[in-house]
Amino acid sequence: MDLSNQDIKYLPGVGPKKADLFDKELGIRTAEDLLRHYPYKYVDRSRFYYLHEISEEMPFVQVKGQIIRFEKVGEGHNQRLTAIFTDGHETIELVWFKGVKWVLDKYKTGIQYVVFGKPSPFNGRFNIVHPEIELASQLPPPEQMGLQPFYNTSEKMKSNFLNSKTIQKIIFPLVQSIKTGIPDTLPAYLLKKFALMNLTESLVNVHFPKNADVLKKARQRLKFEELFYIQLNILQQTKWRDQHFKGFVFGHIGHYFNTFFNDYLPFELTGAQKRVLREIRIDVASGRQMNRLLQGDVGSGKTLVALMAMLMAIDNGFQACIMAPTEILANQHFASLKEFLGDLGVNVSLLTGSTRPKDRVILHEKLRSGKLNILIGTHALIEDTVKFSNLGLVVIDEQHRFGVEQRSKLWKKNNQLPHILVMTATPIPRTLAMTVYGDLSISVIDELPPGRKPIQTYHYYENKRQGLNQFIAKQVEAGRQIYIVYPLIQESEKIDLQNLETGFEYMCEVFPHYKINMVHGKLKTAEKEHQMQKFVSGETQILVATTVIEVGVNVPNASVMVIESAQRFGLSQLHQLRGRVGRGAEQSFCILLTNYKLGSNTRKRMEIMVRTNDGFEISEADLRLRGPGDLEGTQQSGLPFDLKIANLAQDGKMLEIARNAALEILNTDPQLEQNENKVMANQLRKMKTNTLNWGSIS
Ligand code: ADP
Ligand code: MG
Repeated sequence: MDLSNQDIKYLPGVGPKKADLFDKELGIRTAEDLLRHYPYKYVDRSRFYYLHEISEEMPFVQVKGQIIRFEKVGEGHNQRLTAIFTDGHETIELVWFKGVKWVLDKYKTGIQYVVFGKPSPFNGRFNIVHPEIELASQLPPPEQMGLQPFYNTSEKMKSNFLNSKTIQKIIFPLVQSIKTGIPDTLPAYLLKKFALMNLTESLVNVHFPKNADVLKKARQRLKFEELFYIQLNILQQTKWRDQHFKGFVFGHIGHYFNTFFNDYLPFELTGAQKRVLREIRIDVASGRQMNRLLQGDVGSGKTLVALMAMLMAIDNGFQACIMAPTEILANQHFASLKEFLGDLGVNVSLLTGSTRPKDRVILHEKLRSGKLNILIGTHALIEDTVKFSNLGLVVIDEQHRFGVEQRSKLWKKNNQLPHILVMTATPIPRTLAMTVYGDLSISVIDELPPGRKPIQTYHYYENKRQGLNQFIAKQVEAGRQIYIVYPLIQESEKIDLQNLETGFEYMCEVFPHYKINMVHGKLKTAEKEHQMQKFVSGETQILVATTVIEVGVNVPNASVMVIESAQRFGLSQLHQLRGRVGRGAEQSFCILLTNYKLGSNTRKRMEIMVRTNDGFEISEADLRLRGPGDLEGTQQSGLPFDLKIANLAQDGKMLEIARNAALEILNTDPQLEQNENKVMANQLRKMKTNTLNWGSIS
């Protein structure tokens, strides 16, 4: 019996219609998929509680007893039904707001029921709203019920009678059928080494655990397996790449680098910049192709590091390029590189969508002949007509805007892969980086250049708007510029755009004498860049915008970032936005505006923002807040693939263990050809043909 070939359509209780829903809504097609659809929570039904034991913290209780009487309360729309239920000692109210007639038909007084639900405090007592009720005589004894699993479904599934309970009923016989044992997906020696439960037992117990202890063991094993295979896959690909692609050797540090370092560098490098440059230097001299991710908070000085890495390339007779996600950023890089390089004699050009055809021809020629040392540009760089003479290093700024496909086009410009340096200002927690960028080496600039004034952040409620306006006026009078950012998300785009426009009009009314402009994603690219440019050049004083300004824009004169409806932004995004200010010599401010009603999670986000400027601290907190604490089991966002059971915020330790285990195995058996490792090769092959989109990882 191969579970991965067994169509769920034929399982008892499924059929073509439900199978179709499983597929469309959850991507579940086979019996194996179904077994890997783990519960997102469990409820302890292994005992009955007495009513006097109930407390508010209990997510669910199970009580045995009978209904004494029913009472209808209220009229028409407000009608509800209550049942007075007793465990023989005390009473509790069961409450229904709908389905009154159905309830009265179905349940009778004086019969032993098992009632199950969430107790909520009401008028100084507890009641249970819309409880589950079952005949006591039809349930197995509680010792045999154990922990009851709860499964994710979708609204659509629920409205087609595929709720958690139905899924449980479908999975139950399937789990019974594997109890005799199925082949393990991990080799026996790994199970032994890490004292892991075998696959059969893990699957049985993850769905129907007898107690919390076995559940924990089962989950541990499944988490390990998940993380292990992610790492094995990434590391194997990395190894393969290292073997098949030789790297250019930048063997020596020469004239350009040394002259720049000694005579042109306007300031001391920070310790972190020096360390990262050493890391890059080792990579590019190693004979292996460099794939390095350079993380550094906004303003930490990544551009300079990139420039000095490019000088290493030039000293060794190679060309280099920087790819930026927008024209504005490309322009900025071009300007700052020109300024840094002065009359050093390095040839730098800019290529964007706006470059005139006539200039392009000249540029292409200089590029092909090797006269041009550094090319800076946007997507225009990956056009087929752009040919380098010998591209040795590619720097990619703010990588998340570039798809893998686009990058791979760039690789094809050479017979041999150039070294790659990817720069990002989005700090990524270590565990996440090991998963998402597991194939890249990572460098971190964890130190800002000296003399920066930390941005002051405040959280205001809407009613402070008057005061805020006065503050904005003061800043503008002092010659500063202001960002005002509105959220824009897909679902309610129309309303969002309205909010933005209203906000713009409001600012124009309040400040009739200031120059104010507006930027949002609906504008044509050229128009957007034109509007941005007006702010960059200082022509306008206030920019009302959506998050299109999030990436990399550098306006040192902007000192205030106002974020409207800040509750609607995630932590990392708030931090990115805040990083648009604090780039000049002046004290900068970030104002988070929210309405009054904030959930505890949102309140925490605001508190963290006010408390710290440290991007890494913020991203760790972000992962924690968005992570598994979320009991309803919504997916952790921000990952290019879904984790079914492991949790990067909590399982960092296990991730490292899994990664090391994978490394050790690949070191002795890179192709996974040894007998005991074949099971892993199979598993990897299966994963690649499955739903996971590994291509989007690197
Ligand atoms: P980011 O990492 O956000 O790309 P930049 O490279 O734009 O940061 O650097 C931000 C500013 O800091 C630039 O004006 C740059 O010239 C300056 N800078 C970079 N390194 C140093 C340093 N070691 N000392 C002082 N200023 C620096
Ligand atoms: Mg930058």
